[in-house]
Amino acid sequence: MKDHAELAEAFNKDEQRVEWHDETLWWVRQKRDKASHQIPDWEELREAASQIKHNVLSDLANYLEQFEKHAISNGINVHWAADAKEHNEIVLSILKKHQIHQMVKSKSMLTEECHLNHYLEEQGINVVDSDLGELIVQLAKEPPSHIVLPCIHKKKEEIGDIFHLHLGSEKGESDPQILTETARIHLRNTFLSRKAALTGVNFAVAETGEFVVCTNEGNADMGAHLADVHIASMGIEKLIPERKHLGVFLRLLTRSATGQPITTYSSHFKRPRPGHEMHIILVDNGRSIQLGREDFRNSLKCIRCGACMNTCPVYRRSGGHSYHTAVAGPIGSILAPNLDMKQYADLPFASTLCGSCTNVCPVKIDIHEQLYKWRQVIIKEGYGDKKKAAAMQAMAYTLSSPKVYRVAGKAGRWVMKHAPFAMNNPLNPWYKQRDMPDVPKESFGEWYAKNRS
Ligand code: SF4
Repeated sequence: MKDHAELAEAFNKDEQRVEWHDETLWWVRQKRDKASHQIPDWEELREAASQIKHNVLSDLANYLEQFEKHAISNGINVHWAADAKEHNEIVLSILKKHQIHQMVKSKSMLTEECHLNHYLEEQGINVVDSDLGELIVQLAKEPPSHIVLPCIHKKKEEIGDIFHLHLGSEKGESDPQILTETARIHLRNTFLSRKAALTGVNFAVAETGEFVVCTNEGNADMGAHLADVHIASMGIEKLIPERKHLGVFLRLLTRSATGQPITTYSSHFKRPRPGHEMHIILVDNGRSIQLGREDFRNSLKCIRCGACMNTCPVYRRSGGHSYHTAVAGPIGSILAPNLDMKQYADLPFASTLCGSCTNVCPVKIDIHEQLYKWRQVIIKEGYGDKKKAAAMQAMAYTLSSPKVYRVAGKAGRWVMKHAPFAMNNPLNPWYKQRDMPDVPKESFGEWYAKNRS
């Protein structure tokens, strides 16, 4: 399995794409800045959102039970899934009960986390993603590279090629308007022919047992309203206590995500229509473990706006796929090691720790501090890079002894001057993107001893 650095290196081979990816996401980040500056109480809103989520996380079991009670009395079937496997099996059992072989799905990062599409397809169920970006990556047989902008890594010409191959658009067509029309026709047929629809959940209200799904394309509504069975997949952290709290989150979510004042569709689902079925699956999949990790529990406040990715200098220049996990970027690098510390040990290191993610986070998660803490845990647990750990130990030994430091400094200067290839070669990853510095005539210590003592 390649790690973040290797995958980023592959992405970095196409410099023009990196430049374009970087600029596009920075443009989205700037839109977020403008939108947030237009709200005088922005910081108060962030604080309120953070506190509401804090309250939910400190009494999660109680809020979940409240939600379950109210949802059941509204006529919603409530299921509990301990992990991804159980989640996928519940979805399959609902579809089997109704003998449904085709399902339309609106964007849900939780189903990406659970690898639902792959599982259902293995069971003979045809799944069509109805969010435009998700549809593109599904046709390209790729995972999304961003939680809000799933195909942000693809240029319109590449999308034209994909649509030509799978949806029959003209060869060489890259006009976004025409490509969108092509997707629309394809999706209309899908919506009209599917008996089951799966949506994600942005917010679930404990007080009322309802849930809210936010989309810009109305695809969740089209799917859920036309199907006989609506399945909603929800991470257990998506709860808010009361309906009045929605105002805080809906004002923050899309402004932080894309700079829009509000999502085009914020749809409330409370009960099934007569003769129809509504199911909600409450999924843990490692969340209660994260809740128990005091240093990392704040990460469960995340409302998946993607702002931390758009601002992250590493994400913008390494692409979402380099994170090899469903949720990429800074927040993904906190969530993934909770699920598998060994497999995702590289991710907390894929950050400059500049703190820009923390600054933009609408729910005030201390993202860069958690990344720093994960590094310590990962090294302590023995999952760190062995070569790096050995180098750091050697460095600690050298820096802790003035005598060793002086000798090492002298030796280093001599090697850099007379045998630079010993350091500046492809085997030394440190020099891959760096130039050799000029060798100083003397060390600072020597200069100081001469001029100041
Ligand atoms: S961590 Fe914060 S900024 Fe990042 S996606 Fe979650 S809510 Fe948005």
